[in-house]
Amino acid sequence: MTHLYYDVLIVGSGAGGGTVAGRLAPLVADGLKIAVLEAGPHFPKEYFTQREIEMFDLFESGGAFPSADGSITASFGKALGGSTLMYTGVTFRLPDSVCEDWGVEGLSSSDLKSRFEKLEKELNVIEPGIELENDNNRLFKEGCEKIGLSVKKIPLNIKNCEQMGFCNLGCAGSNKQGTLSVQLPQASKAGVELIPNCKVTDIFEKRVRAYVSRTPQGSLSGNLNEGSYEFHAKIIVLAGGTIGTSSLLLKSGFKKEFPALGSYITVHPAMTVYGIYPDKIKNYKGFPKIYYSPDYSQKPGYYLETAFYYPFITSKNLSLWGKDLKHAMNNYNNLMAILILVHDEALEDNRVKLNWKKEPVLDYKLSDAAIRAFCDAQAKASKIFFAAGCNEVVMPAAEKTLFSKADLKGKELEAFITPKTFIPNKVPIATAHLQGGCRMGKESNDSVTDCWGKVHGRDWLYIADGSLFPKSSHVNPYLTIMALADRVSERLITTKDKWLT
Ligand SMILES: Cc1cc2nc3c(=O)[nH]c(=O)nc-3n(C[C@H](O)[C@H](O)[C@H](O)COP(=O)(O)OP(=O)(O)OC[C@H]3O[C@@H](n4cnc5c(N)ncnc54)[C@H](O)[C@@H]3O)c2cc1C
Repeated sequence: MTHLYYDVLIVGSGAGGGTVAGRLAPLVADGLKIAVLEAGPHFPKEYFTQREIEMFDLFESGGAFPSADGSITASFGKALGGSTLMYTGVTFRLPDSVCEDWGVEGLSSSDLKSRFEKLEKELNVIEPGIELENDNNRLFKEGCEKIGLSVKKIPLNIKNCEQMGFCNLGCAGSNKQGTLSVQLPQASKAGVELIPNCKVTDIFEKRVRAYVSRTPQGSLSGNLNEGSYEFHAKIIVLAGGTIGTSSLLLKSGFKKEFPALGSYITVHPAMTVYGIYPDKIKNYKGFPKIYYSPDYSQKPGYYLETAFYYPFITSKNLSLWGKDLKHAMNNYNNLMAILILVHDEALEDNRVKLNWKKEPVLDYKLSDAAIRAFCDAQAKASKIFFAAGCNEVVMPAAEKTLFSKADLKGKELEAFITPKTFIPNKVPIATAHLQGGCRMGKESNDSVTDCWGKVHGRDWLYIADGSLFPKSSHVNPYLTIMALADRVSERLITTKDKWLT
């Protein structure tokens, strides 16, 4: 076992870890030694081929980490840059009302506002122009307007977008502003050490144990050889994401002291639904996601967003078999797509736990309210598709998955798609927005950290990732995670004299 000594260790390099690395980087000039330990590889720009099967390596479990009962697949990154490598760049601020509802003493929407403003500048957040509107976006807007739904533009963090369309397979042009494009290069330039393929397995007081594995082909090697290491530091910042950080703390025995650890997970359960348009439409041009409709965000609680996915993922999302699947996939170039994003409640029983091998398991059940929201959303999405000019639609929870207006036989869409026909494990539900597990709060009996991300009772241990959320963010979460990571960094900088001695 090799022992290495640092002042600050950051575990994970996604939205949270990457932001902390960037913010703390100036401390290197004061003589501090800082490293980022990242379980995944460091992929260079040339690696991003946009080929679906090859890019599965960017994700943990090939992008389909199943929940305990297999009814949901979770998608999150395992590479330098974390999930910001494959995120779409949708940039929403945490709504003030949600911040208030979180009720974390010491965390206010006015504090977050200044951080959002700063981050939006750094990440080049823009309102997409008409040149980024592809056919799917245009038809979504037209369909919504025809049935009286409001449509808003989605703010995006992109620079000189080359319109390759396959954003969720990693950006081949590095135009999407994730931590691998923005914060990590700044940190590395300032002298923060980036250590890829380094999985932290255990955490002890002011030290972690980790294993550095072989550099995968096509990725860049770090400075450390394959083997076991013990890293010592004055401050350890965990930023492995909801699954990574919660499971690491569970494995290291923190549950006894923090009963809420791993619990109250929210995921924004999501599904993608399709309409078959009579003509070919080009959705790989422009940007996949520039419009959304917020009309049902309060009740029954969902967003409808434009989307575009690749052939393999699409064939899974369709939930069709045999000739219907063949029919829909033969019409791949005619497909309109809408992503349904449901707001879920933070419930104690929805949690990350460990299996007998001490590997993380996502134990999550859809609530009845979420199922009702999914059914209502599919009825509304069908209306949008038909209004936009589609002849057939694909709704996995409908009486008939692939149907035309004639199949309704006079039934209202809301009566054709109901919780009775919503069959768990048949309806393909996914999540890319994992939140919670180490929620912020006041006391260790119902939370893991304080409002600054410091683990209760441990002055040397901080958390800076999506696991901090006490409840769902309601909106796409990355900007809020970065803002919380900014708070963690600020706290570390302002208390530096104390923890350095
Ligand atoms: C396909 C997709 C699209 C998305 N689109 C959007 C969007 O448009 N807008 C938005 O707001 N959000 C989006 N998200 C969600 C957003 O990317 C995540 O919420 C955010 O990146 C989570 O940040 P994090 O720091 O918690 O974790 P991550 O960004 O997931 O980073 C965690 C990192 O820690 C590493 N790690 C974990 N455990 C260990 C360990 N033990 N040792 C060492 N390293 C470890 C992981 O390998 C990973 O790289 C999307 C996500 C996906 C997957």
